[in-house]
Amino acid sequence: MYPVKEELKTVLQSLPAGVRLVAISKYHPAEYIMAAYEEGQRVFGESHEQEIRQKHEALPKDIEWHFIGHLQTNKVKYIVPYISMIEAVDSLKLLREIQKQAEKAGRVVKVLLELHIAEEATKYGLTPDDCRQLLADGEWREMKNVRICGLMMMASNTDNEAQIAAEFQQAAALFDELKAQYFADDDAFCERSWGMSDDYQIAVKNRSTMVRIGTMIFGPRVY
Ligand SMILES: *Cc1c(COP(=O)(O)O)cnc(C)c1O
Repeated sequence: MYPVKEELKTVLQSLPAGVRLVAISKYHPAEYIMAAYEEGQRVFGESHEQEIRQKHEALPKDIEWHFIGHLQTNKVKYIVPYISMIEAVDSLKLLREIQKQAEKAGRVVKVLLELHIAEEATKYGLTPDDCRQLLADGEWREMKNVRICGLMMMASNTDNEAQIAAEFQQAAALFDELKAQYFADDDAFCERSWGMSDDYQIAVKNRSTMVRIGTMIFGPRVY
């Protein structure tokens, strides 16, 4: 437990003002989360529905939970009653389901659109054009129980720091474009969720507002 606290302090001290930490606690026990909680950390990220449900039930109720993984539509109803933010919205279908379940639960759920720029092939995430299309389509405007708060993305898994920086810059440019076109009057659209253990220092230099850090705080995950 001691290392969790020391590493957390190191990370927090290195973050500039205006950048928040989402402590990624997936695959780590509740005791680790409590150690960070005792240091004042309140925002935690998880990527599996069952795991986040169990932790939410067991842990203090003032924790803000972020869902950071791929979310299947049939799991939305389980997390909507308590989730603070769903970070990885990658389809209109998922957005519709969040709206439906959030309305049922009488809540407004914050979401980010997951942008895919990295070179790795993945089934998940929206290309910049997909993002533009989703917003141009306009259906989201009728979704009163969903609040789109910005973009999240993962950079390529590479040692090439220039490439990582370029990908963050590309994401930031898209953020500016979408902000100007659709959210100029909406203060809620303000989040740029990028930066993980290996690249968060590059991310904070490239306009991240929210870093998602797991390994550096909690150590390696045991799957
Ligand atoms: C696991 C995960 C992280 C944290 O990664 P670390 O390298 O452990 O900091 C961040 N973002 C997403 C989407 C993840 O799945």
